Amino acid sequence: LLNIKNLHKSFGDNLVLDGISFSLDPEEIKVIIGPSGTGKSTVLNCINRLVMPDDGEIWLEDTEVISCEDINSIRQNIGYVFQGFGLFHHLTAIKNIMIGLRKVKNMPDKAAREKALSELERVGLTEVADSYPAQLSGGQKQRVAIARALAMEPQLMLFDEPTSALDPELIGEVLTVMKDLAEEGMTMLVVTHEMGFARSVSDEIIFMEKGNIVEKAHPEKMFDSPELERTREFLFKLD
Ligand code: ATP
Ligand code: MG
Repeated sequence: LLNIKNLHKSFGDNLVLDGISFSLDPEEIKVIIGPSGTGKSTVLNCINRLVMPDDGEIWLEDTEVISCEDINSIRQNIGYVFQGFGLFHHLTAIKNIMIGLRKVKNMPDKAAREKALSELERVGLTEVADSYPAQLSGGQKQRVAIARALAMEPQLMLFDEPTSALDPELIGEVLTVMKDLAEEGMTMLVVTHEMGFARSVSDEIIFMEKGNIVEKAHPEKMFDSPELERTREFLFKLD
């Protein structure tokens, strides 16, 4: 479903991605881990072309993303959830979800409302449909952001540290929604420090450092017997 080949990106003379390659099959869940400043977010940003790569290929099924002229059609197929939620503060939860359906998918108001409600139900939040973001907890805001992404019926979901901005007691509810999604067969690429999630949900863990993929492995292998001393060091330091 997603195939990334030899991705390169520099910001000025800062080489941030130095030849990243990996792929995601339909329904696969992969987790990217690695130290700060290593290029994890840049990889996700290249996939929906918020950042323009310098070199390489990104295939989303049969479409090459970097050379694609209709980037909006690609972005519609990729849900993106990040640390800061990105909700519109002047819109209620349900309106935050409806706006994309109305403006991008040209859905009539009633159909958009029904779709938004069913997505809110999926993340367990129908009761806050008419609340504004400021009235929601961080965990609820992130679940609304997930529901908003899902409403567009993406083929692929990207998550960039979706729980990093949350108080510890709110992390679980967001991870539960992500686990449910994984079980429903969503294809997901997740940058996270939540090693419990990585271990129990992912099919493969990608360890990145300084713009390179240092090691890729099944989570059990990665946690129990990583090939490289460097990987062991990184995983050990997190505890
Ligand atoms: P973190 O774990 O802190 O989120 P990361 O692995 O996601 O880190 P990136 O955000 O991808 O790292 O950043 C990698 C490098 O690229 C950093 O040195 C960062 O300063 C630089 N960088 C990222 N985005 C830009 C940008 N838009 N313009 C210039 N430099 C950037
Ligand atoms: Mg990042």
